[in-house]
Amino acid sequence: MDADNNLVLTCAHCGAPNRAPESRLAENPVCGRCHQTVLTPTPLTLTDENIQAVLGRNDLPVLVDCWAAWCAPCRAFAPTFERASQNFMTQIRFAKLDTENNRQSAGMLRIQSIPTIILFAKGREIARQSGALSYQQLTQWLAHAFGLDREV
Ligand SMILES: [Zn+2]
Repeated sequence: MDADNNLVLTCAHCGAPNRAPESRLAENPVCGRCHQTVLTPTPLTLTDENIQAVLGRNDLPVLVDCWAAWCAPCRAFAPTFERASQNFMTQIRFAKLDTENNRQSAGMLRIQSIPTIILFAKGREIARQSGALSYQQLTQWLAHAFGLDREV
């Protein structure tokens, strides 16, 4: 891929779409609107209001963790998801959807059990997995979802 490929990424803070060179994502691009960092080591929060923009306006893949506060396996999985979010900050956008408070989105994604993780590329679902995974299972699942040709 072209090293100077410009990627569109939504700001983690204000949601504005920004363009950033793919080769320089590790340098923490700053949002043109709110002047905070576009990428963050912590997952984005998805809502019924912002989900279409986050899924549709990111050139990096988006991994969504569908969860709810009452779900013990979801709470157990949260630190694993956060660890991956830190480690793959410049490769994948990590996002969490509280299915209890965003029922429209949960319905749109046809969530039947939680936790469920769904990987989107260019707004299109390319893989999903239900149940809490270990960190190793998560990274293996990601490698498999990317066709095993991508270092994750
Ligand atoms: Zn911003």
